[in-house]
Amino acid sequence: MALERWFRRKRPTRGDDDASPTGLWLKCPGCHAQIYRKDLIGNLYVCPECGFHERMPVEARVAMLADEGSFERWSGAVMPSDALGFVDTEPYTERLQAAQSKTDRPDAILTGAATLEGEPVALAVMDFGFLGGSMGSVVGEEIARAAERAADEDRAFVSVAASGGARMQEGALSLMQMAKTTVALEALARRRLPYVSVLTDPTTGGVTASFATLGDLVVAEPGALICFAGPRVIQQTIKQDLPEGFQRAEFLLRKGMLDDVIARPALKSRLAGYVRVLRAGLASCAGSAVVRDAALAAPSLDHDDGAPASDGEEALQRATAV
Ligand SMILES: [Zn+2]
Repeated sequence: MALERWFRRKRPTRGDDDASPTGLWLKCPGCHAQIYRKDLIGNLYVCPECGFHERMPVEARVAMLADEGSFERWSGAVMPSDALGFVDTEPYTERLQAAQSKTDRPDAILTGAATLEGEPVALAVMDFGFLGGSMGSVVGEEIARAAERAADEDRAFVSVAASGGARMQEGALSLMQMAKTTVALEALARRRLPYVSVLTDPTTGGVTASFATLGDLVVAEPGALICFAGPRVIQQTIKQDLPEGFQRAEFLLRKGMLDDVIARPALKSRLAGYVRVLRAGLASCAGSAVVRDAALAAPSLDHDDGAPASDGEEALQRATAV
């Protein structure tokens, strides 16, 4: 009965299971202003009034990150199956069919090759609109294949996470994806190729606890909820008030869980800069901490926080010259 109640409960999140807002006019969850949908889309789904980052559809995300015409899709050949014959309030097969016809993809991920300001990368973008971006066998397999193919093709790997966690309808098979994706990243490490993980709202559960937090750099969008168990679960368990901004990107940056929080309009150029510096550093066999610090300090990355940036690439050259 508890499980049934869980499925029936109303989830007070932005857009519920939708990846992005719909309708002609929208109320911004950040400032409650009425925003014309076209204005929001034209502004990369960021509220023009207050900077609130709405969820962004996968295709728009790829169009924003990949250089024009450079994206070549890899995912799509692996189809999900209902190995457990799982039925809750509806059969898993029906949930899958509904999600597939809504999103026009087999499962909650799109992967492919692209260039990012000329840098060859493999992109893996999760779709929160597909069963809450949950990671089942197909998502895990596509992430693993993308990471391994990136290593084979000498590409950096960039993942964009948005996920409610492991897909409960696949039981232990979904939990196995945590190990599978983690191991697949080793292929990149062996070739000394960078992996940059971008966490968007929300990144939770088994995705947070596996590949999404294993990047050479782990960055997030402003305001993104990033956690294993969510704040409500924690609050109900420890029965204490949680600090302001708990488990949000800015809070986690202050606590050292993230390397950077990047507003969406700056995301592409900042990622490209990180990939460039990491790639050069890793190839030169510098220690990973040196490479990471050099990438974060590189002035070409247009940091907008007013902090004076040292010359990251120069620092890297000095560190690797010894
Ligand atoms: Zn707003």
